[in-house]
Amino acid sequence: MSTLTRRTTRRSEEELRALALEGSQLDDTDAAGVARWAAANFHGTLAVACSMAEGVLPHLISQDSPGVDVLFLETGYHFSDTIGTRARVADELDVNVVDVLPQRTVAEQDAEFGARLYERDPAACCAMRKMEPLARTLAGYEAWVTGVRRDEAPTRTATPLVTFDEKHGLVKINPLVTWSLDDVTDYALDHGVPINLLLSDGFPSIGCEPCTKRVAPGEDPRSGRWAGLSKTECGIHT
Ligand code: SF4
Repeated sequence: MSTLTRRTTRRSEEELRALALEGSQLDDTDAAGVARWAAANFHGTLAVACSMAEGVLPHLISQDSPGVDVLFLETGYHFSDTIGTRARVADELDVNVVDVLPQRTVAEQDAEFGARLYERDPAACCAMRKMEPLARTLAGYEAWVTGVRRDEAPTRTATPLVTFDEKHGLVKINPLVTWSLDDVTDYALDHGVPINLLLSDGFPSIGCEPCTKRVAPGEDPRSGRWAGLSKTECGIHT
């Protein structure tokens, strides 16, 4: 049981920027230390973003911040294995999984914009099903934790450990920046953490089903995301 006091009020942007600066000085190879710092400073106003590729980040953060909110962007387009992993994370870990929902169901979006918008305008689809819901939800927190790793893509090599997220107006904490995919799967196996079976079935990066293709061994792990399009990021981390 945590002895930390849950924060209930949001501090000023100036205070959050000072905390982000403090966090940026932490050892970026010590994910557990970063998790302790996050709990000490943000317990109760902290959210963990999770794509349900596995439950490593929720497990890591819940060790010091039990009951932490885990945000799952429920786009309506996930693989059944991803929904299954979400259920296991909710059942087996000491976390509170929050489904972050778009303003429109898939049927409502189809009716308004036409079916398969993801084929014609994936940027608009991601904006409505991921970015707007996430921004709306993050407004209620002081800090969020993500599993972004520097080795995932050329767009991510300079990812900071802790920073002030200018786009969303809160502290962003990336405890796994120096980890590899093997480090993530090793942690999951060592701690009995739920893992999405797609990870070992040719999907090293898992997103919505219509926009995620299987990649061959040795290929860029993110090349299966929006394959054939110039789009490589949904916009959440850029
Ligand atoms: S990843 Fe594809 S289906 Fe999912 S929100 Fe983005 S464009 Fe839409």
